[in-house]
Amino acid sequence: MIPLFSSVTIIGLGLIGSSIARAIRLHMPDVRLSGYDASATVRARAAELSLVDDVAERAGTAVRGSELVILCVPIGAMASVADSFKTDLAANAIVSDVGSSKASVAAILREALPGVHIVPAHPVAGTENSGPDAGFSSLFQGRWCILTPPEGTDSDIVDKMSQFWRGLGANVEIMAAEHHDLVLAVTSHLPHLIAYTIVGTAADMEQVTRGEVIKFSAGGFRDFTRIAASDPTMWRDIFLSNRDAVLEMLQRFTEDLTALQRAIRWGDGTKLFDLFSRTRSIRRSII
Ligand code: NAD
Repeated sequence: MIPLFSSVTIIGLGLIGSSIARAIRLHMPDVRLSGYDASATVRARAAELSLVDDVAERAGTAVRGSELVILCVPIGAMASVADSFKTDLAANAIVSDVGSSKASVAAILREALPGVHIVPAHPVAGTENSGPDAGFSSLFQGRWCILTPPEGTDSDIVDKMSQFWRGLGANVEIMAAEHHDLVLAVTSHLPHLIAYTIVGTAADMEQVTRGEVIKFSAGGFRDFTRIAASDPTMWRDIFLSNRDAVLEMLQRFTEDLTALQRAIRWGDGTKLFDLFSRTRSIRRSII
């Protein structure tokens, strides 16, 4: 296969950045890889693991001459990172990111990098772990990667980015950033919010139950709350950056929960059974 890009820079060498690096090494071995991370510890570990060919001490040095730059940092760091390398970008370089919310990140990148080709992406793949040791080359295999190119983006560039992600094993879907944010608010952001909340509620109950929540958590509680071990910086940034869609979904969810509360209060078994039957068959249809 003719390489799509001869040089790629990854800024942020944690779970997602290091997984992209590993997948590029595996599927596109001729690509020259450079990387940068704000953490000296992560930079040292990235060098030890040979995640990229060059680990730079500055973002500007890392992007120099690169055809594609992918930002894999927390959403709250996107603006300052983009600002730090803008004068070093090669002419015609494509800049992408992997942030879990898209409309606000796209706006940040457009403002920070006027005139630059920007193709935001969200690989819908991950784990609750962070850092360069948590990444693996098959993370994107068979998973969706959603591209949200701003209107008017050159179709050749969108095609190139689609092929790039397919080359890493992902299935690619293209949609408007606002639509992405609404869909992900319900499929990913709301479940994380619920998991974080229920662990907090259970922790508050420990005084009453004297440690028995943790002791007996092997069942549903443990499975259900696995995602509450996810990185707090990343999730703070996701909720703040996708505020409107998350609030909309939270409002709907609260209404549904209130209806359930009412059914339990009034002993309405039919309502509970009908709802659980319907949702069980929906859940069973999701692989
Ligand atoms: P991570 O914590 O594993 O890695 C983030 C890395 O960015 C860290 O090594 C950190 O030192 C570095 N960093 C922070 N600020 C920086 C800066 N200013 N300059 C350079 N490096 C900086 O996190 P992750 O899970 O890889 O998440 C990275 C991005 O990917 C986030 O925007 C997140 O929304 C998105 N994402 C995460 C998942 C997931 O499940 N973890 C899935 C899809 C997308």
